[in-house]
Amino acid sequence: MAQIIELTDNLSNKIAAGEVVERPASVIKELVENAIDAKSTIIDVLIEEAGMTKMTVIDNGAGIEPEDVSTAFRRHATSKIKTEKDLFRVHTLGFRGEALPSIASVAKVKLTTSAGDTGTTIVIEGGKEIEKHSDSARRGTEITVTDLFYNTPARLKYLKTLPTELGNITDVMNRLALSHPDISFRLSHNGKSLLSTSGNGDLRQVIAAIYGVQIAKKTVPVQAESLDFKISGYAVLPEVNRSNRNYISTIINGRYIKNFALVKAILNGYHTLLPIGRFPIIVLEIKMDPIIVDVNVHPAKLEVRLSKEKELGELIAAALKEAFHKLQLIPDGAISKREKLQSEQLQMSFDSNQNIPKRSDSPDYEETQAQENPPTLFEKPSVPEYVSSPEEEMFDSEAMIEEETVGYEVNDSTPVAEERKVRIPKMYPIGQMHATYILAQNEEGLYIIDQHAAQERIKYEFFREKIGEVSRELQELLVPIVLEFSNDEYVRLTEQREKLEEVGVFMEPFGQNSFIIRAHPTWFPKGEEEETLREIVDEALHEPNISIHKLREDTAIMMSCKKSIKANHYLTMQDMEALLDTLREASDPFTCPHGRPVIIKYTTYELEKMFKRVM
Ligand code: ADP
Ligand code: MG
Repeated sequence: MAQIIELTDNLSNKIAAGEVVERPASVIKELVENAIDAKSTIIDVLIEEAGMTKMTVIDNGAGIEPEDVSTAFRRHATSKIKTEKDLFRVHTLGFRGEALPSIASVAKVKLTTSAGDTGTTIVIEGGKEIEKHSDSARRGTEITVTDLFYNTPARLKYLKTLPTELGNITDVMNRLALSHPDISFRLSHNGKSLLSTSGNGDLRQVIAAIYGVQIAKKTVPVQAESLDFKISGYAVLPEVNRSNRNYISTIINGRYIKNFALVKAILNGYHTLLPIGRFPIIVLEIKMDPIIVDVNVHPAKLEVRLSKEKELGELIAAALKEAFHKLQLIPDGAISKREKLQSEQLQMSFDSNQNIPKRSDSPDYEETQAQENPPTLFEKPSVPEYVSSPEEEMFDSEAMIEEETVGYEVNDSTPVAEERKVRIPKMYPIGQMHATYILAQNEEGLYIIDQHAAQERIKYEFFREKIGEVSRELQELLVPIVLEFSNDEYVRLTEQREKLEEVGVFMEPFGQNSFIIRAHPTWFPKGEEEETLREIVDEALHEPNISIHKLREDTAIMMSCKKSIKANHYLTMQDMEALLDTLREASDPFTCPHGRPVIIKYTTYELEKMFKRVM
């Protein structure tokens, strides 16, 4: 007896749905792409409970003729390609004819559509046509999907929390809006608006609607053209950067795509302008002959194959370098870093329409902060002790900024200090080498200490302790800090708020996609409160499952790096003594929080052996 049978349509649709319809966000993507293909100019998306209960997409596009409505829900039924030749010249987002049948096989769908004359309404549940009738309708299509995965419980189980699913939906909507500035998109969740773009064709306005006005203000246009490609878009200045690649958007012929080579080219274009491990915010639209790009390599068409990838990469990198070069971002050797910093701060406070406090704004603020700051051992109230040689001139400004922070008295008699077991013997400084290493001695031998690593270790232990007792030491801000986020970040963050409070970040919702912070722990690095807050929030945002323990740990490491004395910083004998004494009290003085060694030791015996004084 024959063993092989052909699957029923319904079953093969469900199988296809496994690839095309992974979660509510994939339904939104497919439906909105259909609306875009139908040449709509306004697309409204209304969702409830992160799309789990209901998703509606309303467009003003071409609509579907009555005789085509049932066909549209059949497998591989499409109006977008006809012959094999068309497959290599795809001008639409869809062409596989899979979305509608797939969605209809795993949910309840109601579609009302009109191409101008008589409209049609069709209801399909779990792949079965339940109802179809003529309807009076305006031109366009309205499709409502309810009870997603009601008949495939295994799928339901794989879904994440509502905020995560909602975050995915806003993410998809953001990408679609960035790819089509000429279409007005609106997204609302449980009646609350999450995104609204005007559709006037201005990409920068879309960037503002998604990432916030502050970021849109910091963009530079990027433009380039070759025989095969035309690139246009906006790059955000490297000073605003993020901890992951999520903010890099590449759009090929109106389709948002992920392509490793293009991301690499973009990073290459930013080159050394970004700190290590940080990524830019950028939107690039690339137009090319569809023949060069194969879009039929991924079921959701997220990835494409490009035949002239290398050439395009070079064009992108060059375009970015040129855009930044024009701006002269590279600091002028004649201007000291400090002057540059100050002018940047001025520029920022000038740009900003929310009164985010800058540290020099209010003297009171400085004072109230003073007593409770972390141990910044070598900072003295007066500058004269700082000796600068000509070679050190370039580090001068950095050192001066450090010098400004008010000193902290190390109180040896604190109970904590007494309890600690001292793990290294007393070391007496001999001098400093290359303004980077401290040489010290005692009866046991010679020690070489990396001054930066040592201070990082000390600060790390200080912060690790402080972070455990967040709520007891809060400092009210005179002018609260307002942090603006993109809509999907905002949604995800609401879920992380409690965790963030455990490390001293207390955020309250504040208007559209923003949080306000009115107080922070007293031990936050002074003058870097906002930056610190941002970095902590960033971490919670991009590692949503991070444990409180790990978040505390990472926060302590991050804070310890801030304002630690760098290499190439001259220290006086007293500075060195104080550093070595404090280091002795550290519970783990041998490595910095990143695991690099702090101390290297040569015993007297080893030295004598090296000099052949002993055998
Ligand atoms: P594809 O988009 O790959 O063609 P779909 O299953 O997504 O496949 O859609 C099937 C067909 O239904 C489309 O080719 C199109 O003709 C029609 N269609 C779907 N959605 C819309 C819409 N919003 N407006 C007009 N036509 C639509
Ligand atoms: Mg489609």
